[in-house]
Amino acid sequence: MTERADIVRTKLFIDGEERPAHGGREYGQFNPARPKELVGHAALSAPKDVDAAVKAAHAAFPAWSVLNFAERADLLRKIAAALTANEADVVERSKLFTREHGKITRETMMELSRLGDRFLLSASYAERLAAEEQLQGPPLDTIVTRQPRGVAALIVPWNWPLSILGAKLPQALITGNTVVVKPAQNSALAPTLTLQIIARMLPPGVVNIVTGSARDIGDALVGHPLVRNVNFTGSIPVGRHVMKIAANNLTPVTLELGGNDPALVLEDADLNAEAFQKMYLASFASTGQICMAMKRLYVHESRYDEVVEGLRAACNRAVVGDGLLPETTMGPLNNGQQLNVVKSMIAEARSHDAEVCELGKIPDEALYNGGGYFQRPTLVLNANQSLTVVQDEQFGPVLPISKFRTEEEAVALANDSAFGLCSSVWSQDAERATLIARKLEAGYTYLNNHGPMAQDNRGPFGGFKQSGIGRNLGYDGVLAFAEPHTISGPPGFLF
Ligand code: NAP
Ligand code: MG
Repeated sequence: MTERADIVRTKLFIDGEERPAHGGREYGQFNPARPKELVGHAALSAPKDVDAAVKAAHAAFPAWSVLNFAERADLLRKIAAALTANEADVVERSKLFTREHGKITRETMMELSRLGDRFLLSASYAERLAAEEQLQGPPLDTIVTRQPRGVAALIVPWNWPLSILGAKLPQALITGNTVVVKPAQNSALAPTLTLQIIARMLPPGVVNIVTGSARDIGDALVGHPLVRNVNFTGSIPVGRHVMKIAANNLTPVTLELGGNDPALVLEDADLNAEAFQKMYLASFASTGQICMAMKRLYVHESRYDEVVEGLRAACNRAVVGDGLLPETTMGPLNNGQQLNVVKSMIAEARSHDAEVCELGKIPDEALYNGGGYFQRPTLVLNANQSLTVVQDEQFGPVLPISKFRTEEEAVALANDSAFGLCSSVWSQDAERATLIARKLEAGYTYLNNHGPMAQDNRGPFGGFKQSGIGRNLGYDGVLAFAEPHTISGPPGFLF
């Protein structure tokens, strides 16, 4: 069979160079809008490749870690500039990204630009990192340094692979660690090409990239004795497994896991068209495949009908189809497994007599029904708290909406979950909204907005309860890659 000329092939990147996976193995990446369409091949790593990548990172560590923070910050700033320097290349990569991932090009373009912003943010912490705490004696003269740990394993999911790497990679680098990155199997091509731009600008071995299936290499990476830090973003079950494997070497882990974010609309919320558009995007951007999407909506009974109508109108404006077309506002889900999760939640809600509204425009019915992983934006009205679509993360374009009467009831419903990633409160009263936010078991609470478009990257990001351990982003996210090291001597010796 002859291959189309635009088929992309990505290799591994280890010790400063591209190389094939052990045995030349690779796997196909297909278009979620047309699952028979091959987009490219990514290298399929074996444990041997992981071992080579970790050893390269380990060998690069001494020279990288002795640079000072300002020197590394300079390099991060240069990388940020290089990431968007070639506009035509960025546009091409964003199209490739859409074809392998499913989401619309506006979002893949956003991811490609956001990565550079996060490099700049990490660079901005250089001075703060360099300013070591000094404690003058008596009893002792002491300084507290922040030292890199060594090789960090960075593992990311398919949904927002580059933005999520932006919350780990520059933070690991500014603090002086070297890394092995494992992109997700379901979206490896554009992320790998983008990561190669970064890796080529750094000394060999500082950034290494291993693609493939975690089934083959997950344990080899997480459990490698030279890995000193695992920073994982993904699902709760896999997070639990990663923590168990890391425990063998007592390797510290940061886990960013699933979310089932509640949003509380109070009776005094300002509900104009802009607010509904924000709510729509909070829930349905990236076809709902966002950890910090609004996934459960609780509305004061006095405003319920208004919210349902506002969201129904917003959903009906959605254009579902091929993410490469400029008029499309919602692409397919990334994979068939995720589509099945969403479809079964919708079916269960229907079978329990919830009112299910499947909305949006479908300009190309043949494509929509042609085997791609499409699902219209869907509202589940008067959703009972016990439904799976309320209790579990849907990670797809379906939003359950229910009513509450009192503030206490709203807070109890929001906290009635094993998850605790983000949340939001919608109200015109800042003091009241903030008081409620403080009662929510969540790592982040947005006021009058929700989701990645509304996130302040200077704040730490992560979850309470089963949504994770530790934080990425902000200064806390940088410190997650450093070990405090206390150095002290007799009084008068250091200062
Ligand atoms: P996943 O199945 O947990 O996979 C995430 C990553 O872990 C992938 O790179 C995967 O590789 C890898 N992995 C799988 N098994 C592994 C193992 N045994 N050892 C080491 N690595 C392993 O999650 P997903 O389906 O890709 O992503 C969706 C989930 O991620 C949702 O629950 C979502 O909420 C969560 N998420 C959380 C955040 C956050 O910041 N809290 C952000 C985004 C997404 P393969 O691709 O090769 O399987
Ligand atoms: Mg849910």
